[in-house]
Amino acid sequence: KIENATVKAELGRAAWRLFHTTMAKFPDKPTQDEQTALFSYIHLFARLYPCGECAGHFRQILNKFPPQVSTRSNAAAWACHVHNEVNKSLNKGLFDCSNIGDFYDCGCADENDKKMK
Ligand code: FAD
Repeated sequence: KIENATVKAELGRAAWRLFHTTMAKFPDKPTQDEQTALFSYIHLFARLYPCGECAGHFRQILNKFPPQVSTRSNAAAWACHVHNEVNKSLNKGLFDCSNIGDFYDCGCADENDKKMK
């Protein structure tokens, strides 16, 4: 099968959107179980990401920068940092991680909150 860069980039945008939005919804004060879940999720994401060459690069980045799962803001800042590592390797501009706070909105209500926000 030949490489299709347009499709690969589209997958990347979708995956990053889900990845960062997951961090934005992670609890401020996660339980040990929630921290373990996010840690596993990140490692499985890096193992199973469908672009194999991308996944291989990303696993090297994870080895250098282990996932930070102690709080929402640490997880979001960590994810922004590793995405910037990928940006660097692809010669893309860097994202300003101090703006990550409100950037990723899931568009969903909280589980215990029936009203949409
Ligand atoms: P993307 O990098 O997809 O970013 C989408 C949007 O996210 C940007 O428009 C911006 O609004 C925002 N954003 C940018 N940087 C950050 C940041 N640091 N933090 C938060 N938000 C940000 N492609 C390859 O060709 N080779 C690879 O080895 C490769 N490895 C990848 C590994 C992973 C784990 C993933 C998820 C994708 C990988 N990709 C790879 C795809 C690549 O990262 C891009 O998704 C793709 O090239 C499209 O780039 P883009 O310029 O549209 O923006």
